[in-house]
Formats: sequence, structure tokens, C-alpha cells
Amino acid sequence: MLKGKTAIVTGGSRGIGAAITGKLASMGANIAVIYAGNQDAAEAVCEKCVKEFGVEAKSYRCNVASFEETKAAVAAIKADFGAVHILVNNAGVTRDGLLAVMNEGAWDAVMDTNLKGAFHMIRHCTALFLRAKEGCIINISSVSGLMGNAGQCNYSASKAGLVGLTKSVAKELAPRGIRCNAIAPGFIRTDMTGAQENNPLLSMIPLGRMGEGSEVAEAAAYLATANYVTGEVLRVDGGIAM
Ligand code: NDP
Repeated sequence: MLKGKTAIVTGGSRGIGAAITGKLASMGANIAVIYAGNQDAAEAVCEKCVKEFGVEAKSYRCNVASFEETKAAVAAIKADFGAVHILVNNAGVTRDGLLAVMNEGAWDAVMDTNLKGAFHMIRHCTALFLRAKEGCIINISSVSGLMGNAGQCNYSASKAGLVGLTKSVAKELAPRGIRCNAIAPGFIRTDMTGAQENNPLLSMIPLGRMGEGSEVAEAAAYLATANYVTGEVLRVDGGIAM
């Protein structure tokens, strides 16, 4: 279904990003994984895509918070793959803490990676989408950006910002055949969430359990192929943000 397409997945080395990478590869897409530092994990994800699905896959170390590094990474991906059709802005970090004691570094680190990182990647990929006369952007937001969450003002603001970014980009680029959507996952089992079996928040999830990366990847697969859907924010959250 995505044969001949190239997808960039930021933060594709672990967790939700690795699940999305595997799903898009299973649909035939060639894969460019962007990671921050975990080279072994990024290479393992690429190896799996090549072996299991016979697609091309390569990893690129790049800090999405840097305009220059993302520019160089997108140029390298274009040189290696020739074109880019799908961009998944998944790289994200948390630096949780109460507002009253949050330092500027914790605010900036989260905004720069989660929100500015998505801007950088969209900014550099847009010329390639225009050339390909198609493009699909999927931004990984969070229910924290829809509902707010005490102790996460930086993270919530970055994820709410992604919703605004998604809708503006969707409106701006729709006339050029480029779609932009967001996914707002709830509580998903990854390194970021860690061991949560006794977290009282679990009792607030109508479906009564944490989600899996593969369940977010299903939503990404849908948005990658839903040609009449743009500007949407799709919750994958067991109903918690209903
Ligand atoms: P993980 O912590 O498991 O993985 C984070 C990924 O992002 C890693 O691949 C990491 O690379 C990469 N990364 C982090 N910082 C940078 C950076 N500056 N530049 C490039 N890559 C970077 O996270 P999850 O899989 O849990 O989360 C993925 C996304 O989903 C995030 O945006 C998160 O906010 C969002 N989300 C997660 C939820 C959850 O419950 N898990 C809920 C809602 C949203 P490396 O491996 O090299 O460190």
C-alpha cells in the first residue's frame, strides 16, 4: 500500500516510534529513522524492517531541536532515498515538575524537542513534498495537550502547540496536496511511561488498561493512507480524554 514511498520517523528507535516504523515498513514504505543517541536501537529497528519486510531502511543521528542538524539530516535522507512522502514527528521528551519550581531549562528542553523539532522537520521536508506533489505529516501529540496535566505544564503546552501547528499546516498546505494530522495517544506502555501497574490514573481509563505502541501505529497507518483526512487530531487513549 505504501510501496515506493519513503517515510521519516523521528524518534523511530524506541517505543511508539519503533512501532510506527515497523507498521509503515510492513505496508511497503522505505524508512528513515531519526534518533537522538541510541544508535544500537535505531540500527536494530532498521535491520528488522529490511529483514522482515524487504524495504530500504537507514538511521540518522540528529537532534530534532536543532534547525541545522535537521536540515542536514533531511538533505542526507533526500540523497539516500531520492524523495520523502511521509513525515512522522514522534520524537519527544518529558521533564516533568510543578510549575512553581520548574526551571527554564526544563521548559526549553521540552518545547525545543517536542514542538520546535516538529516545526524544523516540517520546514525542511516541505520543499520535498512540493516536489513530489504529495506529502503526509503525522504529529504525535498527547492527551496531555488536550486536557492539561498537573506537573506537566511544559509537556502539555508543547503537545497543545502541536495541535495548533497541525491545523495551520493542514490549512496552508492542503492546496498543494499535502495533508497534516495529529495523533493524541493516552497512556502507552514505553520507556517514557515505565512501570505503571500501580498508577491511580489507570482507573480513569474507560477501557481499563494502558495502550500499546502497536495500537498507536495502527492510527498512523490509517492517517498515512486516509487521502481525504487532514487537520484531524485522532485520540488513541482508551477513552481517557472523552
Ligand atoms: P520514548 O522515550 O520511548 O522514545 C523517545 C524517542 O524519541 C526515542 O527514539 C529517542 O531517541 C527520540 N528522541 C528524544 N529526543 C530526541 C531529540 N532531541 N532528537 C531526536 N530524537 C529524539 O518515547 P515514547 O515512545 O513513549 O513516545 C513517543 C512520542 O509519543 C513522544 O512524542 C511522546 O511525547 C508521545 N506520547 C507518548 C505517550 C506514552 O504514554 N508513552 C503518551 C502520549 C504521547 P533515542 O532512542 O536515541 O534516545
